[in-house]
Amino acid sequence: MRFKEGNSMKKVPVTFFVKKYLSLFLVVFVFLVGCAAHPVTGKREIRLVSTKQEVDLGKATAQQVVNEFGIYDDPKLHEYINEVGQKLANVSERKEITYSFTVLNTPMVNAFAAPGGFIFVTRGILKELDDEAQLAGVMAHEIGHVVWRHGAKRLEKAFGYSAIVLLGEILTKKDLSQLRQYTNFLFSLMLLGYSRKNEFEADNAGVRYSLAGGYDPRGIADFFEKLKAMEKKPPSKFETLFRSHPPTGDRIERVELYLEQVEFEGAELVRNEEKFKKFTQNLPAEESQK
Ligand SMILES: [Zn+2]
Repeated sequence: MRFKEGNSMKKVPVTFFVKKYLSLFLVVFVFLVGCAAHPVTGKREIRLVSTKQEVDLGKATAQQVVNEFGIYDDPKLHEYINEVGQKLANVSERKEITYSFTVLNTPMVNAFAAPGGFIFVTRGILKELDDEAQLAGVMAHEIGHVVWRHGAKRLEKAFGYSAIVLLGEILTKKDLSQLRQYTNFLFSLMLLGYSRKNEFEADNAGVRYSLAGGYDPRGIADFFEKLKAMEKKPPSKFETLFRSHPPTGDRIERVELYLEQVEFEGAELVRNEEKFKKFTQNLPAEESQK
């Protein structure tokens, strides 16, 4: 039997459906992915990775870093590094997360940050630095990567929406074995360094947080000068994420420019050379594994 086709269905303009469902879709989409103001620029941005996911993922990545390099065993040094780090994190634009600062037991000259606030400096880099202002410059740079969400953003870009939803499920189930592809990605990203643009953003943060924390902001520029000198030595001796991109010469130029803009001459800023030496004097020689 065939039903007579009636005119019961009134013609509804297509645009009505488009508008209705598009707005519904957008509401659901924004609900799922979140939208927030960027901590530094203040611009609204869509976020696929929530802060909670960023912290959980960062924690798993940090664990991988610790498994790889080990923690340098010196509670007093850790207390000191943490004190400097917290001072800098407190003046950053992102305070809703907890920052941790760990010294890794490797002669490699390096510092890096896992998303969500997990900052690492190696005993190799501490051996190279002269004072607390230089340490502050390096750590403020790493805090800058966290504040800018550089790691989380790269993850969003590389894995896309569906994979990020999967990541959410994995994190909810706490299935850590499945997290590997994400933590491996972040781990290599941390070791190799971010894009040129991201590194300049973090360098800028390095100057700003140092200054706001009461440190001589020339510390980071001093450190880059050291890197430049190190780059002339055999590469096997200095495997460092700061080496390749952007070129150290460019970073020095940019940092010098920021320093001219911030005007800090005459301000009471510390370098704390003696204090730094006191806590780092027992660090083993570069080649030593212990
Ligand atoms: Zn960096």
